[in-house]
Amino acid sequence: MSAEIGLIGLGTMGAALALNIAEKGHDIAVFNRTPSKTRDFMADVGELAPRLTPTETLEDFVQAIATPRTIILMVLAGEPVDEQIALLEPLLDADDLVIDAGNANFHDTNRRMRTLKQPFLGIGVSGGEEGARHGPAIMGGGPKSLWNRVEPVLHAISAKHKDEPCADWMGEEGAGHFVKAVHNGIEYADMQLIAEAYGIMRDGLGLDAQAIADTFAKWNDGPLRSYLIEISGIVAGTTDAATNGPILDVILDSAGQKGTGRWTAIEAQHLGAPIPVIEAAVAARNMSARKDERGRMEAIFGAAPQGFAPAEMPLEGLEQALICGKILCYDQGFRLIAAASDQFGWSLDGARIARVWREGCIIRSDMLDDMAAALSDSGVETLMAAPVFADHLKSTQAALRQVIATAVSHGAPVPALSSALSYLDTMRTHRGTANMIQGQRDYFGRHGFVRLDDGQKDQHGPWAG
Ligand code: NDP
Repeated sequence: MSAEIGLIGLGTMGAALALNIAEKGHDIAVFNRTPSKTRDFMADVGELAPRLTPTETLEDFVQAIATPRTIILMVLAGEPVDEQIALLEPLLDADDLVIDAGNANFHDTNRRMRTLKQPFLGIGVSGGEEGARHGPAIMGGGPKSLWNRVEPVLHAISAKHKDEPCADWMGEEGAGHFVKAVHNGIEYADMQLIAEAYGIMRDGLGLDAQAIADTFAKWNDGPLRSYLIEISGIVAGTTDAATNGPILDVILDSAGQKGTGRWTAIEAQHLGAPIPVIEAAVAARNMSARKDERGRMEAIFGAAPQGFAPAEMPLEGLEQALICGKILCYDQGFRLIAAASDQFGWSLDGARIARVWREGCIIRSDMLDDMAAALSDSGVETLMAAPVFADHLKSTQAALRQVIATAVSHGAPVPALSSALSYLDTMRTHRGTANMIQGQRDYFGRHGFVRLDDGQKDQHGPWAG
């Protein structure tokens, strides 16, 4: 009997996704470049074995799948995808569908969609190994008709919000991978905001790991309820077996990154979309990687004297500040999505995207449900302007100001929180200060300016000539 679907790449994500697909009742053929990994995988699949067809050559793999074929690639992003497709293509029929489910750069997906002979979809899969195994969020991009061909199986394996699948078509071309990159950018920012709150609790308030864990657990019962807050509490409360102390005390303060946050920041620059909290989060990871250099600077400038008085930094205020920062960071993510949609002629829909992100993915949270509802209102220009979120921002911004003022006065670094506040203050200031920049540009480069009083363009100051 032929398999309904095929999957190439039995690494962390591919193996989990294959088991998820089999568990949902779909027969699946699997292939991995290194055959021993396929054997190891099959040794561990238990009662799902009858639904899985292991293969050790691409020819056998292709033959094992019913036509027209659907083949999911879950290999490392970049060249491995091109290499794998090049080997696969000669074996395929014209209407066999190839789906790249890795973290491709959406420009690569656009290129593949234009150049490949095969029908092609790019889908973003979020939720890590656990998500892939039991229900990820899935962001599809490419021709809608191709998405419709595989929607039933992608709905079946995806996370569910109540009964609604967190898998949807986002838009044309590489839109699915673009939305996944923005998801990851927001993820960076959300994590950085939480890490800054952790730093304030640890260094500013001198709380021990258990008190920090309890605070995150408490926040997880309120408006901040989310996967990232939940796991932050678990991480903070975990004990290291070797030292019998908090595990966080033995984890090097230098964050890794695979590049999707950086792509988001770079793309935002190309699109002229302001996403300062996400950019601050990417920069913070870059600074975190400079551990030795930070040590040398600390020797020159001294460690920041922190030690806040508890009254200066009530934990309720910190929670409010985090709520405010989080809304502003998502506002930026959705603005970036809107900018890409305009620029590339995609039909990205913020509400639809927020609905997909409600479960399965790393940034899943209760707040995304409210965001989906707010963005469904076609009269809403941006999240910040949606009445419910405007009210949240109005009621929490004072706390954000207070937290930043206290942190900054003590020398505690809060790059993402302070970027969020500057963004709010900039975006709500109608008469800004770029008139000075335009004056400077005209002075040194005769770039011209628009007069505010009569709207005339290409005007010059009296310094000209
Ligand atoms: P792993 O490192 O666990 O597995 C990599 C897979 O890619 C292996 O099957 C490997 O085969 C295959 N591969 C590597 N190079 C080639 C090549 N040139 N030709 C064919 N196959 C190749 O990676 P993950 O499972 O973690 O990641 C897979 C994709 O999913 C990536 O795009 C990643 O960014 C994305 N992703 C990962 C997440 C995660 O949490 N890990 C979350 C969301 C997306 P072999 O065994 O032969 O080396």
